[in-house]
Amino acid sequence: MLATHEVTNQSAPLSGANLFEGNQPLRDALAFHGLAAGDPALARLGSEAGSAEMQVHARLANVNPPVLHSHDRQGRRIDEVEFHPSYHALLGGAIGHGLHGTPWAEGPGGHLRRAAGFMLFTELEPSVLCPVSMSYAVTPALKANAALHAEWSGRVTAPMYDPRGLPMAHKTGVTLGMGMTEKQGGSDVRANTTRAERDGADAWGERYRITGHKWFFSAPMCDAHLVLAQTGGGLSCFLVPRWLPEGTRNRVEVQRLKDKLGNHANASSEVEFREAFGWRVGDEGRGIPQILAMGALTRLDCALGTAGLMRQALSLAIHHTAQRQAFGKALIEQPLMKNVLADLALESEAATALALRVARTVDRTEHGQDPTGHEAIMRRVLTPVAKFWVCKRGSHFAQEAMECLGGNGYVEEHGEGLMARIYREMPLNSIWEGAGNIMAIDLLRSLRGGPVAAALAAELAPARGAHAEFDRLADALPTRLDGLTDELEARLLARDVALAVQAALLRQHAPDFVFEAFCDSRLGRGDSLGAFGSLRRAAPFDALITRANPVQ
Ligand SMILES: Cc1cc2nc3c(=O)[nH]c(=O)nc-3n(C[C@H](O)[C@H](O)[C@H](O)COP(=O)(O)OP(=O)(O)OC[C@H]3O[C@@H](n4cnc5c(N)ncnc54)[C@H](O)[C@@H]3O)c2cc1C
Repeated sequence: MLATHEVTNQSAPLSGANLFEGNQPLRDALAFHGLAAGDPALARLGSEAGSAEMQVHARLANVNPPVLHSHDRQGRRIDEVEFHPSYHALLGGAIGHGLHGTPWAEGPGGHLRRAAGFMLFTELEPSVLCPVSMSYAVTPALKANAALHAEWSGRVTAPMYDPRGLPMAHKTGVTLGMGMTEKQGGSDVRANTTRAERDGADAWGERYRITGHKWFFSAPMCDAHLVLAQTGGGLSCFLVPRWLPEGTRNRVEVQRLKDKLGNHANASSEVEFREAFGWRVGDEGRGIPQILAMGALTRLDCALGTAGLMRQALSLAIHHTAQRQAFGKALIEQPLMKNVLADLALESEAATALALRVARTVDRTEHGQDPTGHEAIMRRVLTPVAKFWVCKRGSHFAQEAMECLGGNGYVEEHGEGLMARIYREMPLNSIWEGAGNIMAIDLLRSLRGGPVAAALAAELAPARGAHAEFDRLADALPTRLDGLTDELEARLLARDVALAVQAALLRQHAPDFVFEAFCDSRLGRGDSLGAFGSLRRAAPFDALITRANPVQ
């Protein structure tokens, strides 16, 4: 064959990098929060998550999506979802690294390390982390039924992935999910019509028969889900196992799998409960606060996951533009490309900082390290703030990072196009577990829970006097917080609290040039809140890009 041309000027894939060791912003933030910057467990995870072998699994799990087998060959219901072996390899890897329930069995620092690991694993494959996140988040809710907690928690926290369809007692490890959303109401779960009738009591507590449906029911192969259903006493929360203790399937029928924009490796389903057995968790009528004890932590994971995806997109953009030549030099040397990359680097570091700060509030409050109550207030306030702002910035970020790769960024190529996968994944964290408006309204609700203005002032104090725009925002926020009930302003408030806390964190654990460039571009004039690449000419472009480079 006559060669028509030589293939040149195409970038090599980013493979084999240690995602932890190459992530200076993450390591600096962890060191500030008291975790060794050279943490060996995270270094191992970073190496595995960046490896070519695991990247192949991530591609295969996405191009071979799960398949529902509602019945067996003879027509019996089986409600099994079949996954590609690579899905199991990924889920096993995440659980093996303790990204699910493990921190609940560890001492101080466990939640923080897990948060960093969750971000790093997201760079490998985010959709398998859906059941991982829910299994992490379930513990505070499950504690409301002491018998269930005693029996299930050992397997929720065990770093063992056991995909077998068996009753919990026969398994080495379990995963859990959640079922709230119905057709007629998702955000407003009070509209749920699924009902639960008392059916006696046993070793797991009050038993009910549940009839109805869920319109979104992700990871249906989890060993159990926390499900909301109506009782005589109001909306209540139940643990609904997939297999009953005596060895038969519970009557949870998977109607079909969702055909989703992204998140392809993970199954999200529609289910019907036909008098399925559920054991009550918490009191009748307390279903919403009960399941929100779980939802608050999956919301944290939405922010962590988005920060992880941003970091991955930025790494790919830097890696590509360093290799690709245009108009006589590498793209990364072109002034305007420098501006885009440096601006993305700022956003990525700020997202990492805010998401990790929320994780630290969990660590402190769960380990009795909150003598003043400051961390508890910050946990309540910053969870919706981080979920709102970090996730809102995600899609915008992904689009800009994709553009750095030009046309190749938009191409899927059998799952090789990582930017396309990131872009499809991004909106999900913003929608599920409470979309943007719900998060902003939740921030307003959190203002009623204690002296938030004073706590926020304390949170921002370390950056006082370091930048005029920061001081202006920090001065204004307490008055805006005090007694704000107008939902029309809730998004603006969530954004500004996020920006202020991000700036204060950067002041404390990033070099001065990062803090200053962040305040210059996002506070006051807010240039970079529109298109990325709007940093002013004095910005330290090279220093920002060098700091963000995944290959140090
Ligand atoms: C891939 C995927 C997986 C999911 N997995 C699960 C799962 O495992 N379990 C589960 O229970 N759910 C799951 N969900 C459902 C998800 O949590 C809901 O879709 C989400 O909470 C929004 O609910 P909804 O779809 O009913 O939209 P709606 O509640 O109708 O909301 C639509 C829009 O209206 C806004 N809105 C609602 N109320 C107000 C208000 N008072 N003021 C202003 N704006 C408002 C919302 O912010 C949103 O933007 C999943 C969703 C997706 C996409």
